[in-house]
Amino acid sequence: MSTYKKPKVTVIGSSSMDLVVTSSKRPSAGETVLGESFQAVPGGKGANQAVAAARLGAEVYMVGRVGEDTYGKAILDNFKQNHVNVNYVQPVAEMESGTAHIILAEGDNSIIVVKAANNEVTPAYIDQAAEVIRTSDIVLIQQEIPEETVEHVAEICKEAGVPLVLNPAPARKISQQLIEDAAYITPNEHEAQMMFEEENVEDSLRKYPNKLIVTEGKKGVRYYDGEQEVVVPAFIVEAVDTTGAGDTFNAAFAVALAEGKSIKDSISFANLAASISVTKFGAQGGMPFRHDLI
Ligand code: ADP
Repeated sequence: MSTYKKPKVTVIGSSSMDLVVTSSKRPSAGETVLGESFQAVPGGKGANQAVAAARLGAEVYMVGRVGEDTYGKAILDNFKQNHVNVNYVQPVAEMESGTAHIILAEGDNSIIVVKAANNEVTPAYIDQAAEVIRTSDIVLIQQEIPEETVEHVAEICKEAGVPLVLNPAPARKISQQLIEDAAYITPNEHEAQMMFEEENVEDSLRKYPNKLIVTEGKKGVRYYDGEQEVVVPAFIVEAVDTTGAGDTFNAAFAVALAEGKSIKDSISFANLAASISVTKFGAQGGMPFRHDLI
């Protein structure tokens, strides 16, 4: 009989509906153009990471909010289909779900994000989920929710001795206290450049050994182990769509750590999961299942 117990991962963050149109031309001010296609797909960094962690075999609790609208229902359905627990994803009365309005045109994207219900992931709301946070093997959070909420979660985790993975995306300057309270901080290279006081990323890596983990796309991942800088190479794949690569990376990194893997092995596992995600279209569309990684 197997004694394997799924790690318990709590993801705290945004959920939204991505409304994606493709068009051969981007409209300029006052202009109307005809688009080619439209798709509504579930997204938001929090939701993406929760779905990825569940597909990789963790018992996942999402803590977030949706609106009282059809998108909110679709977002909840998507969590359920992916076996994410939604006891702590409560609809906000008379409010819309978060949305991202994405135009894919002329080889590039333009995006307007409306946070809506995601702004209601407040410290007081988090307190309702304090028990599930305290009993998790690991907690994963991003920055598409209010800053004070992220700080509050970090305090709860610190007090309870639960490691917190902070994926600081989108980037903003963060307090020294938050840097100290987080067990791991996982920016991409642009985020790492702008969020720390140090002149360059090398200095930040040295200042936060075994904590600051910088992802650099296909170049691999860097951290400082206390004695030397370690580069964990990415897997070489034919990239089709890198949307959600960071989300898959963070989820897989958290799942591996919760399973007791070392930092280095967890990064390798996450690189493998993220490399698979970039070979398919869509953020959640490409997220691998555990059996894809063997
Ligand atoms: P973000 O998606 O947040 O900008 P990165 O671009 O650094 O972050 O990608 C996150 C991770 O996804 C990388 O560390 C790597 O593991 C994987 N990844 C991203 N792009 C590629 C690629 N072209 N080939 C292989 N792996 C990739």
